[in-house]
Amino acid sequence: MSIAVQVAKRSTCDRAHVGAVIVRDRRILTTGYNGSPAGLPHCDDVGHLLVDGHCVRTLHAEQNAIIQAAYLDVSVQGGTIYVTHQPCLTCAKMIINAGIRRVVYAGDYPDNLARQFLAEAGVGLQHMKLPDELQAQVGYHPEEGEAS
Ligand SMILES: [Zn+2]
Ligand SMILES: [Zn+2]
Repeated sequence: MSIAVQVAKRSTCDRAHVGAVIVRDRRILTTGYNGSPAGLPHCDDVGHLLVDGHCVRTLHAEQNAIIQAAYLDVSVQGGTIYVTHQPCLTCAKMIINAGIRRVVYAGDYPDNLARQFLAEAGVGLQHMKLPDELQAQVGYHPEEGEAS
């Protein structure tokens, strides 16, 4: 998880710095952080792109980690994803269909439907409390609307 926190520092959307690491058999397969599609401008440079209170410019960390697996021809089936925040519903659906069997998250993200989908699909969801100095880095910013 501390590696996911480090990866999150690469995020280019400051509404939430999210990092994800997909692991299987104690080996790191891929990593991801939330940011713009390759070649497109970043929130940090041109500002957020808000639709209905969500920044829609970025791919989420979990999505980028799963896409990287496809890009590199690595199967994540049966793996575990460590993510700094609880996955949103879209990420939860992608995690389910990528064959990932367990989600370990640190900071909260208020999405009950995502929790429900993961549970129904039999994907384990486990909260990990970080040491205080790391916990401060996995917050999100509700004063700016829901993290996305
Ligand atoms: Zn943004
Ligand atoms: Zn997401």
